[in-house]
Amino acid sequence: MSQPEKLQGGAMGGVEDLYREVILDHFKAPKNRGVLPTANAHAEGVNPLCGDQISMTALIENDEVKDVKFAGHGCAISQSAASMLTQAVKGKPLSVVRQITQAYKTLLGLGNSEGAPPPEALGDLISLEGVKKYPVRIKCALLSCNTLLQGIEDFLNKRGGRP
Ligand code: ZN
Repeated sequence: MSQPEKLQGGAMGGVEDLYREVILDHFKAPKNRGVLPTANAHAEGVNPLCGDQISMTALIENDEVKDVKFAGHGCAISQSAASMLTQAVKGKPLSVVRQITQAYKTLLGLGNSEGAPPPEALGDLISLEGVKKYPVRIKCALLSCNTLLQGIEDFLNKRGGRP
């Protein structure tokens, strides 16, 4: 794994202020990292612009994300966002997961805040708000979110019928 110090340097010039402590904490010690052996939903996502790759595995039961893990590699934003996202959605009903992902997109300057839950629901994802100032990095921040939504979508389509 690359050193965070390196990522803060020239390769990411101009975005130093994005790397707040909480983002680096998730990058260095990610939550829910790995592959869930019991998963019934999974999806792969790539962000070719940056070289980020994320694989999401989740166990969905009774329309709830019972457990979720991510694997992959890429920049600090993509990997820390995945860690924060899994933390925010684990144990939540799918309806709440949708609200969280919607609120997260709103945080990044996309979509609208209508019906969005209070920022507390986002957990540490809130620390990525600064990314919206750097359009090229928004794809990094959204990769895990879109990959998880894809996995849930595929799961629901396969199962037939939605909550
Ligand atoms: Zn990236």
